[in-house]
Amino acid sequence: MADLTLNEAKPEVAALRKELNKWADAYYSKDAPEVEDSTYDQKYNRLLELEQKFPELVTPDSITQKVGGQVDTEFTKVEHPLPMLSMGDVFSKDELREFDQRVQKAVGHSVAYNVELKIDGLSIALEYTSGRLTRASTRGNGYVGEDVTANALYIKDIPQKLPQPLTIEVRGECYMGKEAFAKLNQERDDGGLPTFANPRNAAAGSLRQLDAKVTKRRHLSTFIYTWVQPPEEITGQHQAIAKMHDLGFHVNETGRRIKSLDEIFSFIDDYTAKRDSLSYGIDGIVLKVDDLNLQQELGNTVKVPRWEIAYKFPPEEQETVVHEIKWTVGRTGVVTPTAVMDPVQLAGTTVSHAVLHNADLLKEKDVRIGDTVKLHKAGDIIPEISKVVLSKRPKDSQPYQIPEVCPSCGQKLVRIEGEVALRCVNPSCPAQVEEEITHFASRPAMDIDGLGPKIVRQLLQNDLVHNVADLYHLQADDLAKLAHFQEKSINNLLTAITKSKQNSLELLLTGLGIDHVGAKVARLLAQKFKNMAKIMEADVQEITAIATIGMTIAESLTTYFAQPEVIKLIQELQDSGLNMDYLGADEPAEIAANFFKGKTVVLTGKLAHYSRSEFTKKLQALGAKVTGSVSSKTDYVVYGEDAGSKLTKAENLGVPRLTEEEAIAKIE
Ligand code: NAD
Repeated sequence: MADLTLNEAKPEVAALRKELNKWADAYYSKDAPEVEDSTYDQKYNRLLELEQKFPELVTPDSITQKVGGQVDTEFTKVEHPLPMLSMGDVFSKDELREFDQRVQKAVGHSVAYNVELKIDGLSIALEYTSGRLTRASTRGNGYVGEDVTANALYIKDIPQKLPQPLTIEVRGECYMGKEAFAKLNQERDDGGLPTFANPRNAAAGSLRQLDAKVTKRRHLSTFIYTWVQPPEEITGQHQAIAKMHDLGFHVNETGRRIKSLDEIFSFIDDYTAKRDSLSYGIDGIVLKVDDLNLQQELGNTVKVPRWEIAYKFPPEEQETVVHEIKWTVGRTGVVTPTAVMDPVQLAGTTVSHAVLHNADLLKEKDVRIGDTVKLHKAGDIIPEISKVVLSKRPKDSQPYQIPEVCPSCGQKLVRIEGEVALRCVNPSCPAQVEEEITHFASRPAMDIDGLGPKIVRQLLQNDLVHNVADLYHLQADDLAKLAHFQEKSINNLLTAITKSKQNSLELLLTGLGIDHVGAKVARLLAQKFKNMAKIMEADVQEITAIATIGMTIAESLTTYFAQPEVIKLIQELQDSGLNMDYLGADEPAEIAANFFKGKTVVLTGKLAHYSRSEFTKKLQALGAKVTGSVSSKTDYVVYGEDAGSKLTKAENLGVPRLTEEEAIAKIE
């Protein structure tokens, strides 16, 4: 870092912003994080570090200058009279000491803090007019949030009427308790729906529902901790919380007003130990300068108040013993090992399974039956085995033998060249068929309501279906033989199956579960080719003519449709009356977000995979501007063999460079 130059920092800053923006979008807008919080925090802090070293690189739209959140939604927008900011965070007690020193330096003396639990949910603002709840809103981008009043009316602990006719705004955290979270995820899992990664995402996904009745079913709660511009007689945060409690708000009563740092540290240690036993999730401790006048004096940066800080808990680790390694067969035949362990409490949930991803990783970690392992779950998402505790390994322990045959059908497993995964290549392997049908019926695909994994398993076990085409031959009499099927559930399922026949082509394509063809690619294909027959006939050139589609997808499609059993399956589906046409709008599709969209690119040197003009067209179709000369405005230089002066100029200017292969990988 010390020797890093501005030009070296530039591409790193750009890459960090791009990555963080993408993760923040998944986290805040879709409530479905793509990475663990600790990974996000690490990269975010690296960006902060670079921006501090090179302040000229700070731009107003950098993620470090904005409060994360989404306002571009179907909810009515609410302008916050006073911004709802984010909060600075630290990860060690030393950093808390530094924070305290900054505060003391700014105000000239030591201060008392109100120390509170950092609740793992999302902020909510509640406005009352003459004692009546008139508006509830989310934080959004800090200045504009979403109107969730209809939803807030279904949160039991939010008072709709105050005991006094006050016109006030209070703010707090909307969260989902651990029990409600576990129940919701269980229900979603049973229904074949994706589960929420953690209680925070579940709370956000449940509050931000256009149909408020869904919120009602989700059992959300609140802890209110801020009185916005309270009356003069309230002079401290601790006092404000007590008064809000008197007004009927649900407040967290663990908060304490503390002056000494040592006492604050023992509060932290205490709740680090108690964390798992609480009925709601917390991800840290918040220190707030208690005196409200001092808070005013200290003020805010563009993003965070200077008078408060969050101490975030380190990712938790637990020890447990591995009893079994289970192998499961996925839709594409990939066989994945999962360690089954003694259940332990980890970051708020009971964990007894950890995915080991593939045989190579299992060998590398050398996990054996009977081993004591360290489990880790940074960011409350996926439990992972960090390492084996070798000192506790039983004396008679034997290396784990990787299975040679499929756990479902017994056929020999193969390892495809270039892949780390082991696969079962038997197309009629029952485990794969179950996954295939479940995927076919799932929400992003044919969206057959009520056809989740449990029912698919029942249908397979009773020999009623063998592939997705058989779903369309199911009769009421067949279903009546199954356990738990009544007239109403039979009718509902058959209606949902029949309704799916009218789906537009892209849903059917997604449902087929072709390797590398997810919902987005399916849509692009359907938009271009308009019907199934044309897609089945298309060759690699025609397919790769679509801007964001490359060789890997094209080859996967042509290989898939060349199989006689696939041709037969499509024919059967067509004979059952399934729609094979694209029913969407015909307007040219907007260029989807991609690596090159909006970027200025220069090509140089001899390209091996495409001609210069082919590659230019491809980049232009992705929304890039392809120019002939390198300048500081160039975003990327893509180079092939024998590249000369343009590449040297790019190096001198600090313009990021990509080999042709790297650029192709970004496209595909
Ligand atoms: P934050 O969640 O770290 O802290 C600020 C928030 O804490 C406030 O807005 C408030 O809602 C909440 N809070 C809880 N208890 C509180 C209390 N007692 N007093 C005051 N506030 C309290 O900040 P953020 O800006 O909402 O989110 C940033 C964090 O989100 C990151 O540090 C990261 O961990 C996570 N994140 C993760 C991803 C990912 O992909 N995993 C992406 C984006 C953000």
